[in-house]
Amino acid sequence: MKNEVFRNRRLGPMKRLRPFGAAACCSALLTAISLSIIAPGWSWGRSFPASGKVVFVCDGDTVILESGERVRYLGVDAPEVAHERTEADCFGMEAKKANSDMVLHQQVSLKYEREAVDPHGRLLAYVNLPDGRCANLEMVRAGCALVYRSSKDFGRIEEFLLLQREAIFKHKGMWGACSVKPAEAYMGNKRSFVFHRPDCAKGRKTAVRERVSFADRWAALEKGFRPCRFCKP
Ligand SMILES: [Zn+2]
Repeated sequence: MKNEVFRNRRLGPMKRLRPFGAAACCSALLTAISLSIIAPGWSWGRSFPASGKVVFVCDGDTVILESGERVRYLGVDAPEVAHERTEADCFGMEAKKANSDMVLHQQVSLKYEREAVDPHGRLLAYVNLPDGRCANLEMVRAGCALVYRSSKDFGRIEEFLLLQREAIFKHKGMWGACSVKPAEAYMGNKRSFVFHRPDCAKGRKTAVRERVSFADRWAALEKGFRPCRFCKP
């Protein structure tokens, strides 16, 4: 994790300590590193809950547990609900309702991958229901969320992409409800896995070496690229 690397670098002045102090610090550091390797529920002082009761549903991909922890669903991105200054995306409210119907008041178990926290400090996890279903996957299956790829792939990505293809093919959820004006071609960013219309100002900032072109939006979606929130391809 970025933060961990940063903190490691900050431990640099250790060599100025007396040998005993340095040894003690090294030993503590090694213990911390080994703990984070052997116990995925622990990282640099923050412990990650293995389960919790969902008391609030923020939208189609984020919930709050009774403990107060905010959990972002790993590997998916649901359309946004309305915020103070922004309108809801198409199918944002429907996705929130579908999520709420599925997980609210449920005791869920959480499964983490290497990145257990997102850049906003939220837990990043597979959220599993008592009946064994994975809420993340169910949102994709119902066409209520897109697969969210980043430069580091998550473990279940192939399974998620397969279900997304099926949801698109069957016009489930947003795939049937949200009409999109087609463009002649599309340009994707290989680092961010976001794709754009050819005239998108944000898309044009993509470095040439990171660009990939798609003949239609389905080809982009099939590879796990998601539409830009700005040009809405
Ligand atoms: Zn764009």
